[in-house]
Amino acid sequence: MRVEPIERRRIQLRGLLQGVGFRPFVFRLATDLGLSGAVWNRPEGVTIEIEGVRPNLETFLLRIERERPVHAVIDRIDNTPLEPIGEERFEIRESDHGGAREASILPDLATCADCLREIFDPDDRRYRYPFTNCTHCGPRFSMIESLPYDRINTTMREFPLCEECRNEYENPSDRRFHAEPNACPACGPHLELWEPDGALRASHDEALLAAADALRQGKIVAVKGLGGFHLMVDARNEEAVQRLRQRKIREAKPFALMFPTPASVGTVCRLSELESHLLLSPESPIVLLKKSASSAIALSVAPDNPYLGVLLPYTPLHHLLMAELGFPVVATSGNRSEEPICTDENDALRRLAGIADLFLIHNRPIVRPLDDSVVRVIAVRPLILRRARGYAPLSFQIETNRSLLAVGGHLKNTVAISAGGRITLSQHLGDLENAETDQTFRQAIADLKKLYHHSPDAVVCDLHPDYRSTQFARETGLPLCPVQHHYAHLLSCMAEHRLEGALLGIAWDGSGLGPDGTLWGGEFLKIDERSFQRVAHFRTFRLPGGERAMREPRRSALGLLYETFGDRAFEGRAALSAFNAEERRILKKMLETGLNAPLTSSAGRLFDAVASLLGLKQTSRFEGEAAMALEFACEGIETEEAYPFRILERGTPKSPLIIDWAPLIEAILGELEQSRPIGEIAAFFHNTLSEIMVSVARRIGEEKVVLTGGCFQNKVLTERAMMRLSAEGFQPYRHQQIPPNDGGLAVGQILAALRINQEK
Ligand code: ZN
Ligand code: ZN
Ligand code: FE
Repeated sequence: MRVEPIERRRIQLRGLLQGVGFRPFVFRLATDLGLSGAVWNRPEGVTIEIEGVRPNLETFLLRIERERPVHAVIDRIDNTPLEPIGEERFEIRESDHGGAREASILPDLATCADCLREIFDPDDRRYRYPFTNCTHCGPRFSMIESLPYDRINTTMREFPLCEECRNEYENPSDRRFHAEPNACPACGPHLELWEPDGALRASHDEALLAAADALRQGKIVAVKGLGGFHLMVDARNEEAVQRLRQRKIREAKPFALMFPTPASVGTVCRLSELESHLLLSPESPIVLLKKSASSAIALSVAPDNPYLGVLLPYTPLHHLLMAELGFPVVATSGNRSEEPICTDENDALRRLAGIADLFLIHNRPIVRPLDDSVVRVIAVRPLILRRARGYAPLSFQIETNRSLLAVGGHLKNTVAISAGGRITLSQHLGDLENAETDQTFRQAIADLKKLYHHSPDAVVCDLHPDYRSTQFARETGLPLCPVQHHYAHLLSCMAEHRLEGALLGIAWDGSGLGPDGTLWGGEFLKIDERSFQRVAHFRTFRLPGGERAMREPRRSALGLLYETFGDRAFEGRAALSAFNAEERRILKKMLETGLNAPLTSSAGRLFDAVASLLGLKQTSRFEGEAAMALEFACEGIETEEAYPFRILERGTPKSPLIIDWAPLIEAILGELEQSRPIGEIAAFFHNTLSEIMVSVARRIGEEKVVLTGGCFQNKVLTERAMMRLSAEGFQPYRHQQIPPNDGGLAVGQILAALRINQEK
């Protein structure tokens, strides 16, 4: 009989491996195959030392990749031979705390089916326990303070395991083996219900039942969840929903809804298989769903909007509460107006004073704020519009060892770092328009630095000097690398599809500063290995009142009309009836002199202008409202028709093509006179924009076309553009994982800095 020699290997793995039940999986596999050795977490990944006969070692390696736990991602495996040492057993060792901090951190995961069964099983010791979790589900990013991922480095450190929980935690064949947030009613966190003055009204299950009672009575309850507070109210109670709008100072921006079950969603919304899959995924985002014709949902939940933002319960607390209620509730971020989400109960008492009637809280601290993520299905694929709970942090490999910090843009801010061959993108932090959000932004940067022991050697920011993020970048005193806004948008989409080399980028959004000092936003950039060239853009027009034009589409309309008709713009157009005589006088002055009326080539402002001309929106109550109204107006209209436009070539081959929208605007004005239905005009307008893309793409001649910028949150525009570009033989790419809006900028900024650096 041939005796196989004993071999020993050290296997180093990198990727998403901590907090997913990877070590117990390795333990079971090694034990099954009669191998000895050990497995332990390192800050940068997982190490296995394994000893046995070669065929078994090879099977082991094969099966590690093939059978790894569902949420585990292996980026890299290094395999080094060692001298056998004759060990007898396989063990899971304590973590090694030294070395570089670059392990990926797992996002928070929605409650799994096994845990769900336990909390509704009267015979289970976790019956009705709101903090039940296991290695397949539960808090992660919201409770991790430092790496490696061990209980001692999480906020669960404050809850010593009881004997039963410890047995589960230490038993390799248990579902809770090394489940770091493991807890039960005897040893884990608990609920309390507080009055607005902080007085305790009830605790444990009674707190939950009393909170449910209050919601049934139309009260507004602040509920501390996984990544922060929600404000909840009965979604069927019009009066209560309006009260929440008034107290929160949120006029019209849609509220998200939490439904008790997938079936209950089906009674109010139409949903595809993919959409219900997204709702039930471990990431458990808010999914934008088309409303059905009739529903019991209060109209003020999402005024003038054919969509509802829907999510399902994603923690045992939410499951228990929703099962108690049996009806949908508004579940909007626990904040006032545009402030960041509250994470701490004492802070919530102060900041949500006057908004919430009661506070359902718990004593597990939340390390960092994580809003609910938002996803929309566009062209049969999910598009993540907001990356936060469930998706954050995003981490992926790139070829660089530079340590950079990218501070993102101004709205929908996120930040990113690069180190040790990886980029890590933070969660959504919000619009940097007030002191609270600024604080959250600064904390998030400090947090990433601490988590990853990251010390950047340069800071990447937007070209715009007035963004709070740019100001912060300057304050660091580190070398600065300003990156043009739309270039960053494009590189973020290219990163997602791992695109290299020459291509045409179409970056359309509200605005971003161009190197020429004008506000860009309707850009066609040709990308090469190192830089970009502006090859085409929309004809510019003035925005009277600058910043104010962002909130008043009628100002964009006026600027556009003035550019086309000069003084005749002021003669009796519908869009102008929205201004009084005095306002018109001031606006005219601005347009004539150009003072406080910057030039823009923005596609977003073109949407605003058309929405205003069509009488859909003269003032916006939240960012993107006018463009959304235009998109929604196309509802149910199938048409191939488009309006005319002109592409102007200027002097030298180097100067960009100008897309003249004047024929388009004249056509729309003519249609309005002929009383063409608004919906048809809106649909023709979207078609025209797609034809513009095709027409420019033909002239530039690059096969690959990348679509990016906030305008591509628009389903009608994106689907039409993808379809038309493909039909004309181009290869179009759009965002899916990284938001096309400013939430994706930080990733692009890092990539731009790396390219600029190459050049030197
Ligand atoms: Zn579970
Ligand atoms: Zn316990
Ligand atoms: Fe942008």
